[in-house]
Amino acid sequence: MTKIIDGKEFAQKIRNQVKEDSDNLFKNKEVQPCLAVVLVGENPASKVYVGAKTKMAAECNIKTKDFKMEDTTDQATLLKVIEELNNDSGVHGILVQLPLPKQIDERAVIDAIDVKKDVDGFHAINAGRLSIGGEMLKQAFIPCTPLGSLLLLKDTVPNLSGMNAVVIGRSNIVGKPMSQLLIEESCTVTIVHSRTKDIEAICSKADIIVAAVGRPEMIKSNWIKDDAVIIDVGINRIPSKKPDGSEGTKLVGDVDYNDVFEKSSAITPVPGGVGPMTIACLLRNTVTSAYRHAGLDDPRGTVS
Ligand code: NDP
Repeated sequence: MTKIIDGKEFAQKIRNQVKEDSDNLFKNKEVQPCLAVVLVGENPASKVYVGAKTKMAAECNIKTKDFKMEDTTDQATLLKVIEELNNDSGVHGILVQLPLPKQIDERAVIDAIDVKKDVDGFHAINAGRLSIGGEMLKQAFIPCTPLGSLLLLKDTVPNLSGMNAVVIGRSNIVGKPMSQLLIEESCTVTIVHSRTKDIEAICSKADIIVAAVGRPEMIKSNWIKDDAVIIDVGINRIPSKKPDGSEGTKLVGDVDYNDVFEKSSAITPVPGGVGPMTIACLLRNTVTSAYRHAGLDDPRGTVS
């Protein structure tokens, strides 16, 4: 029978751990973890996301500092804010909500964040540490969506060693870090993307498929082998009729869930799979950073 991998429940478990770790840090060192969230512009999706982060941080006893900046903010002004946050010893994590307005160079901004406060894990040094792996990984911050995807996967398949994994998508935010995490788990990893030839044939040999494409319901049952484990990172809004027949929308993944369900051994739904894990892992990274700043070991290890 196919297992539905419940990301909502798992994310709640992680947030409970984060709260416990945050409370222990305060008890032992009188330090409250603090996350600075910088939002530039009025992107509605970003605003919703930032709001959810702030609310969940409060539930985990993590302090947040919000910086809302105009859409017309120039790069120098944003860099100045980041420098101030880098120098603020009360701030343990800095998150600059992406995407940034077009007048700002995202890479320059990400790499201006103190690597020890880069809880999104996008800084070039953190990406390099993840790529090198091993001991280096213990100093890194791992990007939140791939970290959440791996935690869900390991909860279903504790020993991934030797498995064939196909990651669909090669973005710096999801596809590449995910593939590096799977290499670290001793999977044999293939990354496919928009230029890959015969993508279905490659996917059909995979024990594990991680889909991070941004194409609604692209992956069908004839792409996957029997009993494959499917991690669907995609979040796509498509038109859908409401129960009363009027026009509405709904969220779907990159995998055609209903088509693939019977053939897979385990699958993340959308919504309620990988989605809730991203914020939970951001909060986890923030508390990890606060522990490191206090000279303590990571409370939960790298990936456990
Ligand atoms: P990007 O657009 O940055 O990357 C998409 C990747 O998919 C690219 O590597 C692209 O290839 C590849 N691709 C596009 N079309 C095809 C195709 N037809 N066949 C094979 N590969 C294709 O997206 P992200 O990685 O940022 O996000 C991917 C999905 O994950 C999105 O749906 C996004 O909404 C979701 N997401 C969910 C998060 C969560 O919290 N759960 C967080 C982040 C993202 P190429 O490089 O050749 O262009």
